[in-house]
Amino acid sequence: MSAKLINGLEIAKKRREEMKQKVSELKKEGITPHLTVILVGDDPASKSYVSGKEKAAKEIGISSEVIHMVADATEAELLAKISELNHDADVHGILVQLPLPSHIDENKVIEAIDPNKDVDGFHPINVGKMILNQDTFLPCTPHGIIKLLEAIDCDLEGKHAVVVGRSNIVGKPMGQLLLNRNATVTYCHSRTKNLKDLTKMADVLIVAVGKAHFIDASYVKEGAVVIDVGVNRLEDGSLTGDVHFDSVKEKASFITPVPKGVGPMTITMLMENTIKAAMRLR
Ligand code: NDP
Repeated sequence: MSAKLINGLEIAKKRREEMKQKVSELKKEGITPHLTVILVGDDPASKSYVSGKEKAAKEIGISSEVIHMVADATEAELLAKISELNHDADVHGILVQLPLPSHIDENKVIEAIDPNKDVDGFHPINVGKMILNQDTFLPCTPHGIIKLLEAIDCDLEGKHAVVVGRSNIVGKPMGQLLLNRNATVTYCHSRTKNLKDLTKMADVLIVAVGKAHFIDASYVKEGAVVIDVGVNRLEDGSLTGDVHFDSVKEKASFITPVPKGVGPMTITMLMENTIKAAMRLR
């Protein structure tokens, strides 16, 4: 079998067109969705993610601003800035770009953001609501993956979904969102024994490990839907996923490429969360 490609870029483009319409309606009502991103330090990958977010916001008509704090900014300074933004009625969404320098407690920072402005969906209140399957800001990467699965009409009910990776931003919420859609979910991680036995049972296999070409065709069941979250830079500077695309595509029914798979959807869902935050004011 040769898998069909899940074109994240195209699916994201379509959603962004719809969002443009929503934003222009909000603007007519006097509401311009506004996202403030705080970037601490000069990490090149973080800078590039932030500029991607700014570009997407501009494209959709969302107003955005980046507050750049120096790498040795103190935790207190960052918390004071967040408090200021929490109280600014013109700011609908607040995102602190992670990772933060090691002298700053990431959990403290996430908890300081007003849950109603937490467009990353990382605040414990929003995580709790997600677990309870209540309406809330969902974390952008796993939410984007659910939208990709919907776009290919993948019926998750009763399917066995295997998630490799259990980070707070991808793996854990991914499994929860799949469970909320009635999939049977298995989580795998670095201590999992016999990983291959588990991944080979997956109808839907989501890989978020951060190791280039970690999953080859021998880990995949014939006809599985394979979602590759990984973004790894090779020595020649090119980007590649956690899945060995060329071999797995011969076995899977659907597969996401890297780049142009999950990545464009992550940013798109951030924009949707920002619009959602602004719509609370209606
Ligand atoms: P983390 O490093 O936080 O988590 C990696 C996970 O992989 C951990 O749960 C770890 O297990 C697990 N793992 C590591 N080695 C193995 C192994 N040998 N077998 C099974 N599991 C293993 O990464 P993230 O979740 O933040 O990101 C994962 C990847 O996705 C990265 O490449 C990242 O760049 C990419 N990414 C892409 C995004 C996009 O929009 N496209 C967004 C976010 C991330 P344990 O918990 O036991 O340590």
